Amino acid sequence: MEFRLGAKSDSFREEVRTFLRDHVPADMVERAHDTGTNHDWRVHRALGEQGWIAASWPEEYGGQGRDPFEMTAMRDELRLAGVPTDGLGQSVIVARTIRAVGTEEQKQRFLPPFLKGEIIFALGYTEPDSGSDVAAAKTRAVRDGDGWVIEGQKMFTTLAHEAAYVFLLTRTNPDVPKHRGLTMFLVPLDAPGVEIHPVHTMGGERTNATFYSGVRVPDALRVGEVDGGWDVMTVALTFERGGFALSEADRVWQQTVDWAEGTRRPDGTRVIDDPLVRERLANMRINDEVARLLALRCSYVAATGAMPGVEGSMHKLFYAEAMTADAAELVDMLGVDGVVAHGELDAPVDGWVEHLYRHAAVTTIYGGTSEVQRDIIASRGLGLPRSRR
Ligand SMILES: Cc1cc2nc3c(=O)[nH]c(=O)nc-3n(C[C@H](O)[C@H](O)[C@H](O)COP(=O)(O)OP(=O)(O)OC[C@H]3O[C@@H](n4cnc5c(N)ncnc54)[C@H](O)[C@@H]3O)c2cc1C
Repeated sequence: MEFRLGAKSDSFREEVRTFLRDHVPADMVERAHDTGTNHDWRVHRALGEQGWIAASWPEEYGGQGRDPFEMTAMRDELRLAGVPTDGLGQSVIVARTIRAVGTEEQKQRFLPPFLKGEIIFALGYTEPDSGSDVAAAKTRAVRDGDGWVIEGQKMFTTLAHEAAYVFLLTRTNPDVPKHRGLTMFLVPLDAPGVEIHPVHTMGGERTNATFYSGVRVPDALRVGEVDGGWDVMTVALTFERGGFALSEADRVWQQTVDWAEGTRRPDGTRVIDDPLVRERLANMRINDEVARLLALRCSYVAATGAMPGVEGSMHKLFYAEAMTADAAELVDMLGVDGVVAHGELDAPVDGWVEHLYRHAAVTTIYGGTSEVQRDIIASRGLGLPRSRR
C-alpha cells in the first residue's frame, strides 16, 4: 500500500507552502482568535487570484483540475499555516451544489465571483427548534407574484456577517410530510428584512442568529424545484460530509512538542523527558495519524470518482472525538496552567492547548453531531436499522 501522496502532490504542496509564506498576513491567526471570525478576506482573495478557491474543479468551470491527493496536500498546508478556512469550506459546499443543480443563470451569476474569492456563502439550515432533524425547518417562504416572501429565524448562521448570500432552507408547504415541503433559496444578506445577531460560542468562534421578516426574493434565486428542497439538501449534505473538515490537533501537537522540548521544570529536567508527557504526546500523535488516514481514505474514494459519504462521517466522527479526548489529556498534563488562555501571561504552549480544549467540544456538534455521524455509519455503512426518521 502506498501511503505517500505522490510526486505531483508533493510539488503542489511545495507551491502552496511558498504561496502561504508570501500571503499569510502576520496578524492573521491573532485576528481570527480575537474576533472568532474564521475567515480572512486577504488570504481568501489571494487564493482566488491564484485560482485555488476550487482548484479541484475542471478547467472549463474555472478550476485547475487538481486531483483529490493534491487537494489533500493543499488542505494540509492551509491547516498547518493556521489559515482560517470556514468561509472557503462552507462556500465550496454551496458553489458545488449550484454547479450540480442550479440554473444556467445561477451558475453564470454566482460561480465567477465565488471562484475569484470575491464572495462567500453562509449555510442557513439550523433553526432554534431543528438542527439534527434539519428537515423539520419552519422558516416559511410564501409565493408573492413572481417572487417569494420569507419569514423565520435561523440559528448558527456562521459567517452571515461576511457572506453575500445565505443558502436558505425554507418550508413552502406545511401540509405534506416534512421532507416534501421544503425549498432552497440564495438570499442576499443585505436584503431589507434580514437581521444578523452575533453568537459567541464557548469554542471561541463567532457565529450568528439570523432573522428574516418579510424578506422578498425573486424566483430566480430559488435553487431546485419548489417543494424539492430536500433533493437539493441531500446533494449539499453529501458535499459537506465528503468535504473540507480540518482538524487543528496536529498543529497544536507540534506546538506542544516544541514547548515541552524548550521548557524546563524547577528540577532542571526538560518537560519532554517526562515519560508520562511522552506517552500522552505519542497517543495524540497516533490519533492524528488515524485521522489523517481516514481523510486519505476520503481522498481515495473521491479519486475513484465516487462521493465519500460514510467515509466522510468516519473521518469527522473520529477526529472530533479523538481531538476532544486528546485536548483533555493535554490540559491534564499541563496541570493548573493548562487552563491559562492564549494572550494571558505565562500561558503554556501560548494558550493554544486551552483553546483546543474549548474548541474540540464544538467540533462534535457542527457539520452533524457525533451521534448523527454514528447513526450514518451504522445505517448506511453497516446496514443496521435507522434510528431516525
Ligand atoms: C460553532 C457552530 C457553527 C455552526 N454553523 C452552522 C451553519 O453555518 N449553518 C447551519 O445551518 N448550522 C450550523 N451549526 C448548527 C449545527 O449543525 C447544529 O448545532 C447541529 O446539527 C446540531 O443541531 P442542534 O444544535 O439543533 O442540536 P439537536 O439536533 O437538538 O441535538 C441535541 C442532542 O441530541 C442528539 N441527537 C439529535 N438527534 C439524534 C438522533 N437521531 N440520534 C441520537 N442522538 C441525537 C445530538 O447529537 C445532540 O447531542 C453550527 C453549530 C455550531 C456549534
